[in-house]
Amino acid sequence: MKTIKPALILSSLLLLASGLVTAQPIVFTNVTIIDVEEGVAMPGMSVIVTGERITAVGTLNEIKVSDGATTIDGRGKYLIPGLWDMHIHNVNDVYKPVPWDFHTPDPEGAEQREIYMPIYLAFGVTGTRELSGGLESIELRKRIEAGEILGPHMVIGSPLLDGPIPIFPDAAVMRIDGPERARNVVTKLHSQGFDFLKPYSLLSAESYRALHERARELEMEVAGEIPISVSLWEAAELGQRSVEHLTGVEFACSNREEELRAHYVSRLRDLNTDPSSEGALDIWNRSEWEPFESLDPERCRKLYGHLAAHGTWVVPTLIIQKMISHANDPRWANNPNFRYTWPMDLEALADEFDPERRLRPLHDYRMSVINELHDAGVGVLAGSDVSGGFTLHQELEIFVESGMTPLDALRTATINPARYLGRENDLGSITPGKIADLVLLNKNPLDDIRNTQSIEAVVFRGHLLDRPNLDRILRQLEVEANHLKD
Ligand SMILES: [Zn+2]
Repeated sequence: MKTIKPALILSSLLLLASGLVTAQPIVFTNVTIIDVEEGVAMPGMSVIVTGERITAVGTLNEIKVSDGATTIDGRGKYLIPGLWDMHIHNVNDVYKPVPWDFHTPDPEGAEQREIYMPIYLAFGVTGTRELSGGLESIELRKRIEAGEILGPHMVIGSPLLDGPIPIFPDAAVMRIDGPERARNVVTKLHSQGFDFLKPYSLLSAESYRALHERARELEMEVAGEIPISVSLWEAAELGQRSVEHLTGVEFACSNREEELRAHYVSRLRDLNTDPSSEGALDIWNRSEWEPFESLDPERCRKLYGHLAAHGTWVVPTLIIQKMISHANDPRWANNPNFRYTWPMDLEALADEFDPERRLRPLHDYRMSVINELHDAGVGVLAGSDVSGGFTLHQELEIFVESGMTPLDALRTATINPARYLGRENDLGSITPGKIADLVLLNKNPLDDIRNTQSIEAVVFRGHLLDRPNLDRILRQLEVEANHLKD
C-alpha cells in the first residue's frame, strides 16, 4: 500500500478543528424544527447554541439572543438532530483493509482514520457506533474529544469475538476457544475501554454464555451477531442488546431450528479437527439461507414479541446487503460519494456471500419484515455497515421503501440511538440542555426522506460547519483518496 503523506491536508484539518474550539454562540432564526419525539414540524422557531449545548428553543420573542452571536437565517430551511450511523467499521472498510494485529497498534491505519473521520460530519453524521473496534479507535476517540481531530462521537465495540477458526481471519478478530478464554477476554476488553462486546457467528454456545456471564459481572453490554450455535430466543433472554443485520431472525423463525442448528454445530466441530471438512464460510452462508426455506409466520410473530419484551434492538444494515446483492445496479453500487474514499470491491464481497442463494432472497425478505418488527415494538436503529456516513442516508431511503414513514425512518438515526445508548439527556432531539449536534437542511425530510441529503450546514458539539467548510473537507478527502488510488 502506498504510504500516505498527509502533512498538508492533516494540518489544515487540525487548524479547522482547533478553530472550532473557540466557537461563538450560534442562533438559527425562523427555522422549521423537526421534532422527532412529538413527530411534528415546528415552523418559525429560533434555536440558540452556546458552547457545546443547545441553550434555548422558541420563537424570537420568547428567547433572548446574546450580542456577538453568529446568526443563521433559517427561513425555508429545516433543522434536524445530528444523525447517528449505528453500524460502521473504520478498521476494515476505510480505503483498503489495513494489516491488523489486535496487540500492536497500527500507525498507518491510525493515520488513515484520522484523515478520514471528518467525512462523517460532512454528511451530517455526528455519531457513530463502531462494530469492530481496536485500540486505535479508542485512541482516536480521545483525540476527537480533546478537539485535536475533527470527527463524530464514537461508541466503540470490541473486535469480532469469533470461534477458534474465524470466518474472517484477517479482520479485527479475537479467537475464542472456550468459556475460560471468553471470560478473560471480556475482562481485558473492559479494562481497555471498549463500550460493548461483539460476538460473531462461529462463537460456541458455551463461550457465548460465558461471555454474557462475565459481561454482566462487569456491567458491559453484548451487541452484535447471533452465533450460529445459539438461538436468538436465548440470546434475547441472555440480554444481547442488539442484533446486527437481523442475523438469526430467520433461523429463529424456522420450524426446523433445532434440527438445523444441531447439524451446523456438528459441522463446525468437525472444522476444528478436520481441515478438509466443509469451510466456515460455507456453513455460515447455509445457516442464513437454509432456515429461510422453513419459515413459520406464527413463530416469527412470537419471536418479534419476544424481542420487544426483552428490549432487544435490531440494526438491519439493509444498504450493505443491497449494495452487495445488487453489485451491478448503479443506484446502489456507484455512489458518487465513494470518490471521497476507497471504493468497495463489491464483486469480491458478493463472491463470499453467495448472492444467488443467500443475499438477494434474504435482502428482499428482510426488507419486508422491518415494518413488522417496528410494529411489534422492536426498536430499529439505522446502520450502514459501510464507513463514510453517506450510505446512512440510503439506509433511511430503504426503510421508507420498505414501508416506514419518513418520520419513523428519521427516528432510527436520531432519538432511537439516543434511547438505545441511554443518552436521551444529551442526544437525539433539539431540546435545551442537549449537546448541539444539528443538521440544517434545505428541504423537508418529512416530505421525502432523501431530503436528509440536502445539507446546508452541520453543527457538531456547538461548532458550526457551514456549506463552504463542509465542501472544503470533502475536497481534501478527495485529494487524499486519489493519492491512495495512484
Ligand atoms: Zn459490520
